Amino acid sequence: MTAQLINGKDIAAKKRVEIAKEVQILKGNGITPGLAVILVGNNDASKTYVRNKEKACQELGMNSLLIELANGVPEQELLAKIEELNDDPAIHGILVQLPLPDHIDERKVIETISPLKDVDGFHPINIGRMMTGQNAFLPCTPYGIMVLLDETGITVEGKHVVIVGRSNIVGKPVGQLFLNQNATVTYCHSKTKDLKLHTRQADIVVAAVGIPNFITADHIKEGAVVIDVGINRNEAGKLCGDVKFDEVSEKAGFITPVPKGVGPMTITMLMYNTLKSAAESLNQ
Ligand code: NDP
Repeated sequence: MTAQLINGKDIAAKKRVEIAKEVQILKGNGITPGLAVILVGNNDASKTYVRNKEKACQELGMNSLLIELANGVPEQELLAKIEELNDDPAIHGILVQLPLPDHIDERKVIETISPLKDVDGFHPINIGRMMTGQNAFLPCTPYGIMVLLDETGITVEGKHVVIVGRSNIVGKPVGQLFLNQNATVTYCHSKTKDLKLHTRQADIVVAAVGIPNFITADHIKEGAVVIDVGINRNEAGKLCGDVKFDEVSEKAGFITPVPKGVGPMTITMLMYNTLKSAAESLNQ
């Protein structure tokens, strides 16, 4: 392998030590950051994500509150629960684990969360604030990617960044964060013609597609930085990203592995956002 590995696990661990210290300082001021997580239904993957979030809160000295609602919970009941948490001064962050059952309108749920407690950064107000370069809760996975690059000493300004994927939670916002840092950004998606034409010009490629081994060495310019957001299972059931790691790591300059790349940063930035919310509540 010629590429330098960007070790998300180590960078996340370093960030968590910094967050834990800030939590102790806030506690000295009488505030313990509190994160409420609402889980609707019995999705196994969602349960695992929620457990990991609770564990992270405990490790960092924050409070966590898990609210489990039945799969058939009426939308109104879920919205009322969110309103209750919006008004609870002990709760600084509210997260509704997605996906939600079909009878619940995801948009309505996200928009009911107070923008001041929207630690996922999905509320349109936070998205708008991010787009206009104002103080905002940044969405956790895109934010984590920017921290990975910063901690690795990779400059973004002036670079050509090609994002493959344009979802609301990863592709679109990460492109915006790169733009905010003066990169030139190209978005690619399923209707893009000749994807390789674009990705081969990139100084930095972000793969957020959800297809195992989709990005191959052919897609990459020699020495490029490759960020693999994908979390997939291959045919053997093994965890893998969107990037064909074996061959791309022979050509790239820097690469994130899966696991231990972008993944550990997502929960870390959620913890950071909860801390930020608690700290900002001192001035509200
Ligand atoms: P989505 O399914 O919402 O979006 C996938 C994107 O890929 C879409 O924009 C789609 O285009 C695009 N796409 C699909 N096929 C192609 C193709 N052939 N060529 C080019 N683009 C294509 O996924 P997410 O953004 O939610 O997630 C992407 C991956 O990241 C998944 O593996 C997911 O598990 C992982 N993930 C990891 C996280 C982490 O913490 N590490 C957090 C969140 C997600 P179009 O818009 O045209 O349909």
